Amino acid sequence: MLVDQKEILKDKLKEIFGYDQFRGNQEAIIQNILDKKNTFVIMPTGAGKSLCYQLPALVQEGTAIVISPLIALMKNQVDQLNAFGINAHFLNSTLTKTEINRVKKETLDKKTKLLYVAPESLTKEDNLEFLSKVKISFVAIDEAHCISEWGHDFRPEYRRIRQIINQLGDLPVIALTATATPKVQQDIQRNLQMEDADLFKSSFNRKNLYYEVRPKKDIKKQLIRFVNQHKGKSGIVYCLSRKKVEEIAELLKVNGFRAAPYHAGLDGAVRMQNQDAFLNEDCDIIVATIAFGMGIDKPDVRFVVHYDTPKSLEGYYQETGRGGRDGLEGNCLMFYSYNDILKLEKFSKDKPVTERDNTKLLLQEISSYAETSVCRRRQLLHYFGESFDTDCGFCDNCKNPREQYNADTYLLKALQAVKQTEERFGLNHLVDVIRGSENQYILSYDHNKLPVYGTGNDETHEFWKSVVRQALLYEFIEKDIENIGILKLSRKGRDFMDAPYSVIFTKDHDYSTTEEEEEIEKEAPVVKAHDEVLFNILKNLRKQIAKQKSLPPYVIFQDPSLEEMATVFPTTQDALSHVNGVGMGKVVKFGKPFIEAIRKYVEENDIDTVSDVVVKSSVNRSKTKIFIIQQIDRKIDLEEIAQAQNLSMDELLSEIEHICYSGTRLNLDYYIDGMMDEDRQDEVFDYFMSAESDNIRTALDELGDEDYSEEDLRLMRIKFLSEYAN
Ligand code: ADP
Ligand code: ZN
Repeated sequence: MLVDQKEILKDKLKEIFGYDQFRGNQEAIIQNILDKKNTFVIMPTGAGKSLCYQLPALVQEGTAIVISPLIALMKNQVDQLNAFGINAHFLNSTLTKTEINRVKKETLDKKTKLLYVAPESLTKEDNLEFLSKVKISFVAIDEAHCISEWGHDFRPEYRRIRQIINQLGDLPVIALTATATPKVQQDIQRNLQMEDADLFKSSFNRKNLYYEVRPKKDIKKQLIRFVNQHKGKSGIVYCLSRKKVEEIAELLKVNGFRAAPYHAGLDGAVRMQNQDAFLNEDCDIIVATIAFGMGIDKPDVRFVVHYDTPKSLEGYYQETGRGGRDGLEGNCLMFYSYNDILKLEKFSKDKPVTERDNTKLLLQEISSYAETSVCRRRQLLHYFGESFDTDCGFCDNCKNPREQYNADTYLLKALQAVKQTEERFGLNHLVDVIRGSENQYILSYDHNKLPVYGTGNDETHEFWKSVVRQALLYEFIEKDIENIGILKLSRKGRDFMDAPYSVIFTKDHDYSTTEEEEEIEKEAPVVKAHDEVLFNILKNLRKQIAKQKSLPPYVIFQDPSLEEMATVFPTTQDALSHVNGVGMGKVVKFGKPFIEAIRKYVEENDIDTVSDVVVKSSVNRSKTKIFIIQQIDRKIDLEEIAQAQNLSMDELLSEIEHICYSGTRLNLDYYIDGMMDEDRQDEVFDYFMSAESDNIRTALDELGDEDYSEEDLRLMRIKFLSEYAN
């Protein structure tokens, strides 16, 4: 890539969107589009897919066509782009004739940089005719998984997109999705005839999301207790039926929460009103059906509850993905019951056979996920074809580990079952073989004559299912990508059969017999780096301005930007433009009242602002500090923070000490707990409690440098200071 071009893109990123850096693959993706190559992007919700086509659309001649399945989502994106000062429009059935004409005119006049089109509008004759006259820079296909019938959100009209693009000329295509299992990925590429596309797949890991599954018992009480813990924060509660949506919204209202329902059966105006109330922060909790969730696109959703068991892991992942899009807190709680699974299976009983089978497989994956005691994140990532070789430490299963067992002999039996049935069967059949079931299927294949047949009849069906699933998760067996549902041996599995070794598996949850366990809430109290009072002032101000301008508040500034303002107190336009997420465009548009509010607050409270400090030190120093504070708030490993800032561990600790000595509390427990056990922590803590000074050398002498490293002691000193001095 030319250095100049790189610089230009980066400048645009800052100037228009207000961001200092590209995230993940964004820059490479944008470059690929500018090189007119077909591009396939798989990135989790919230990772920043939109920017991948928005930015190249702006720096190129012509109009980019964005195909997007949901009208609500389109409007939302166009509103956001307009707030950035970008000429973007959408074309769909909600527009009047006059509006359509205006959009078309601006596009033909080459003013429009991005034009969002619904797939059904795309196929309309007069729209096609119009599009053939437009100078199109490229075509972006958002939510590309809708192309595949193996996924969870199949839309037949999506399968015709290729044909239409061909009519418009030889255009580069970028397909984007947040959920694609390997099978779905293959399907998308085949259908769009873009097997040649460059694939950019980023990790699906959403580090800030906390996953939890609870049995569906005493659910109303559980729900109320849960939302109460998050009172005043935005959240979504998903239910399966409209009736349930109404009922739960009512239940929450009666209990004093600001909740509103959202489902397809509501009158259009009411639905819009409820969604706006949620976006505008007049309502905290939206209770919605799953089918209508996609229209809700708000960065500061702090919890996502699945009141009913979801229909597929893809759906679940996408829905939970709406939590914490701004990188801050996001709690995902699913209530699971096997009855829900049976109900969902019944819904599909009138569907064609392939669709029914597909539904069943998707539901099996959900059961497997819910019942497993293995790290949830690991399980989710594996499902989307990503291997993740450690447990995450940030999900319910990691926090409350279950009993483990030596699985060598069980695993061996499972693998033998796969092998002896010639790698042509799925989970349930394999389990039936191991347990010696006498069903028709088994007999018709003569599988009752296999050596492995019936060798596992001491254990339950559920137990064996769990063994096979863990064999899959740990990659001893793998899914056959061409034949859905079929399991095969992997290289690792064959090796294991040749020379078995010790393997540990975890016992599944048994939700059918769980007594309601009192949940032990182990969450550490959240320590905020920013000034909470100012943050709330700014939030209210944002809400007020949003109302005046009829925009959702986050279109003005997002939470992380407000947090940063409440950390660095920018009192000039220039200082404000240095805040992440605030470009000069936004400063001019929205900045004034914020600067005034901050100035007033700073004066009234006698605060030294960073802009004062900046004169003395350098901008970069304070930026580094803010970055560190924010990352620690998000519980990012110190090694990772150091790496991101190009600091050695020693330098990073110095920065942290500096932050701490200037009065900011930092909670490093998440990191320290992983380094030192409780006894050792107590010992050091007691030492600092009684010591004359906090000098590290003295501490090392006293405590013994065989037992503790300098780093250990420095970390503990920070913890000590944070808890007592700040
Ligand atoms: P997706 O479409 O992948 O779900 P979005 O495009 O909506 O995600 O982006 C998620 C959030 O990340 C948005 O709030 C967006 O403003 C922000 N974002 C995107 N790119 C960057 C970046 N380079 N730096 C900081 N924030 C970014
Ligand atoms: Zn985990």
